[in-house]
Amino acid sequence: MTEVRTRRLIEAVASRVIAAADELTALDRQTGDGDHGTNMKLGCEAVLAQLEQLASRPLPDALRAVGNILQMKVGGASGPLFAALFVNLGKSLAHAPEQPPGQGVQSLALALRDAVAAVARLGKSEPGCKTMLDVLVPVQRVLETGGAAPERAADLAARIEAAAADAAEATAAMKATRGRAAYLGDGSIGHVDPGARSAQIMVAAVCGVLREA
Ligand code: ADP
Ligand code: MG
Repeated sequence: MTEVRTRRLIEAVASRVIAAADELTALDRQTGDGDHGTNMKLGCEAVLAQLEQLASRPLPDALRAVGNILQMKVGGASGPLFAALFVNLGKSLAHAPEQPPGQGVQSLALALRDAVAAVARLGKSEPGCKTMLDVLVPVQRVLETGGAAPERAADLAARIEAAAADAAEATAAMKATRGRAAYLGDGSIGHVDPGARSAQIMVAAVCGVLREA
């Protein structure tokens, strides 16, 4: 992974989340306390402020550093959870065995599995609770199928992006059992989960960069 690619990935993820801050806040007003967009925007602005230093590191180190920034800057429940996602993604990728060209998808799928498991442990949560995991878990599953059959990276990225969009949309029908939205009980039904939408936006940003390549 080149420095340019690392920079483009981090920049795309952070800037897409910042651009969606108002939408994320509006979603969080429906089922929470209306701070999700502001929380994520502050964290992503802090990431962009360190873009040059981040881009000069190997991708696993950069991901860990992004997680540490999010841990410090993103308030609310989502901060430590997204921080755990990035820190563990970086840790797992750092330990991944060297892959032959074109087979990095399997390492990435395994690393994402570890990272998503860390989020689930920290949040004492699982898919179906109407959280970011309802996007992250389906995305990880599609990524895992990507290593199985020969497929162009752009096609896999398109499949993942579509799965993430469907998964975020599907949280609307769920009743929240974790996070602030759980206080609403059945009242949480009918609204897309803000953290799931953030996760989808991040995934779409990554897929967009991978499709360009
Ligand atoms: P807060 O709820 O503390 O105001 P945010 O508004 O920033 O924090 O983030 C809310 C999002 O965090 C939710 O939409 C959900 O996706 C995610 N979230 C909350 N609690 C959990 C949990 N226990 N496990 C996984 N994700 C969670
Ligand atoms: Mg909130």
